[in-house]
Amino acid sequence: MTENIIDGKAFAAGLRARIADGVAAFVAKAGRAPGLAVVLVGENPASQVYVRAKHKATIEAGMESFEHRLSADTTQAALLALVAQLNADPAVDGILVQLPLPRHIDENAVIAAIDPDKDVDGFHPVNAGRLATGIEGFVPCTPLGCLMLLKDRLGDLSGLNAVVIGRSNIVGKPMAQLLLAESCTVTVAHSRTRDLPAVVRAADIVVAAVGRPEMIRGDWLKPGAAVIDVGINRIPADGGKSRLVGDVDFVSAAAVAGAITPVPGGVGPMTIAVLLRNTLVAAHRNADVPFEA
Ligand code: NDP
Repeated sequence: MTENIIDGKAFAAGLRARIADGVAAFVAKAGRAPGLAVVLVGENPASQVYVRAKHKATIEAGMESFEHRLSADTTQAALLALVAQLNADPAVDGILVQLPLPRHIDENAVIAAIDPDKDVDGFHPVNAGRLATGIEGFVPCTPLGCLMLLKDRLGDLSGLNAVVIGRSNIVGKPMAQLLLAESCTVTVAHSRTRDLPAVVRAADIVVAAVGRPEMIRGDWLKPGAAVIDVGINRIPADGGKSRLVGDVDFVSAAAVAGAITPVPGGVGPMTIAVLLRNTLVAAHRNADVPFEA
């Protein structure tokens, strides 16, 4: 890898190894393994891949994985009853309901039903509020992973101009809050932003979470900028196949950026590693064992 490429895969592997050590230490103190419950409703193929990957990573870290696969016609009441059961189960430290849910289920109602102290995805409004007000809670895994990569590469972020492109509750908004908490000057861009290239050109840090293949080009960037590409887009490739690309046009951007995450192998592997970290933190809190990061 060339020097300016941020190897998220290697960073995530290191983080997972440290988490596995942390899990072993937790088991020695608490007499049980941390437990993560993952709930999948329906047969969305991408969700099935994510849930399988989360299960494997949880086991590899030495944690207990509780998988609940429900049929696509599960009622909202049945799902809420399962969430209530998991909230009350002392073996379950973290609860993750895989999104998207089938259309007949109100996602917000389900997220709100999860105990905020088991909400290892950090999507509960209480955790969003904690993040916005600087109270310790759970932070969504993907933006927290992006922040870890940035701090590892740049060190102190204070005073840097950061532009986050995208304002979803899952990525863009929490990313902006995290960068603000690091004392960056933060701009949040979205589909109504005027002259996005000019906004991006002012940034020392660019986080792209848009969902549009290769939209951000090298000639939009300030030379030396750090670029974090959250996008995962599948586009047609030669021979009737497909390939994954980010929201950033990697080749042109890598020629200008001071640091850049590739797709795949950048932000993607961080998400599950941070989920494991959040679960380990939850287990310490639930068992009243101090967490040493
Ligand atoms: P959403 O679709 O929820 O949000 C996309 C955001 O991009 C919106 O705020 C939207 O603006 C903005 N946007 C859309 N078009 C433009 C445009 N032309 N110019 C500027 N802004 C625009 O997506 P997510 O936040 O959930 O995900 C973003 C990307 O990250 C996706 O590719 C997704 O697959 C990927 N992802 C990757 C993860 C990982 O583990 N690496 C995890 C989660 C997501 P507006 O609000 O105005 O509509």
